Amino acid sequence: MEFITQQAVPLCLCGEISFRYPPELPTAYGLSTAPNNVGPCAGANIRASLFKNCSAPADALQQLAEGLISTSGSKPMNSSAVRQEEVGNLLLASLPPDEFRQLAPQLARVGLEAGARLYEPEEVVPFIHFAEGGLLSLLSTLEDGVSVEVGALGREGLGGLLVLLGSDVAAHTAAVRVGATALRIRTTQARECFERLPGFRARVLRYSRLLMSQVSQATLCNTTHTVEQRLARWLMLARLRLGGETIPVTHESLSHMLGVRRSGVTVTVGTLGQAGLVSHGRGFVRVEDAAGLANASCVCYRPLAEEYDNFSNSLSTL
Ligand SMILES: [Zn+2]
Repeated sequence: MEFITQQAVPLCLCGEISFRYPPELPTAYGLSTAPNNVGPCAGANIRASLFKNCSAPADALQQLAEGLISTSGSKPMNSSAVRQEEVGNLLLASLPPDEFRQLAPQLARVGLEAGARLYEPEEVVPFIHFAEGGLLSLLSTLEDGVSVEVGALGREGLGGLLVLLGSDVAAHTAAVRVGATALRIRTTQARECFERLPGFRARVLRYSRLLMSQVSQATLCNTTHTVEQRLARWLMLARLRLGGETIPVTHESLSHMLGVRRSGVTVTVGTLGQAGLVSHGRGFVRVEDAAGLANASCVCYRPLAEEYDNFSNSLSTL
C-alpha cells in the first residue's frame, strides 16, 4: 500500500506532534485516529524525525514511518525483480539461494547520493539499506555540534543494524560519503526475515560483530591518535571498501568524519601528499603509496583491515 501525503489530512497520534496522512491509514493499521490535534503541517516531505517524541506505540510508528516517508536519503530506481547474481552487497550475495528468493520480492534498488543522510539519532528508521558499494559514515555528534565518525560501511554492510535488531530508533547519523546503489527493505519486513531465515540471521549477527569492533576501536582511536594517523587509517580502509585507489571525498566531509576543522584536514592531506603517500584534487584523494600510507596509519588500521577480510571470507561459510 502506498500513501500519498499531498492530499492527506492533518492528524496526530499522541497530541504532541502533527503530520499528515490519508484518513484511511489509521484504520488500515488498526490504530486509533485520535483526530483531536491539528497542528502545523510538516508538508509533503515528512521525515521520520517527526515521530521521535511521539508517545504512540513504537511498532505503530514504525509502520506509519514506512508508509509516509517520501524522502529518506534514497530514491527508488526501478521495480524490476532483484537477481542474486547481480547483487553487490556481500551479505545478500552470500545468502543461501532459497533464502534470497524469499527476500527478493521485498528488496528495492535505490540510489544513495553523496551528502544524503539515511537517518539521524533518535529517528524511526523506515528502511534497512544494504549498500552495494560506496561509503556510508556512522557519525556521533557532540554537544558542541562537532561530529566524528564512529563506524563506516560499504558493500559489506547495512544501514540500520540496531533498528533491525529491535531498537525503536537510530543511535547515530548515517551519512552517504561516496554515492552508490543499495538494496532497501522495509524495517518490519527485515525483522520478520531475521526471525524466519537462519542464513540471513547468521550474516546479520556476524556483521554486528564487525561493526561493534569498529565502534569500540573508533572510540579509542578518536581520543588517542593524531589527525594524520587517523586520516591515513581512514583512507586505507576506504580504499579497502571501495576496491580502488581514488577516494571521492572532499576535505569538508573528511573534517566531519575526523572531528577536526577543515583547515586542519587540508594541512594534513598536504603533509601526506608531500611524503608521496597520496595525491589530491577537487573532491578526491588518491592513494599513491599504499604500503607507506599503511605505515603512516595508527595501530588501529591493521586489526580493522584484518577483521574486514575475515568477515568477508567468513560469509560463504555461514
Ligand atoms: Zn587509531
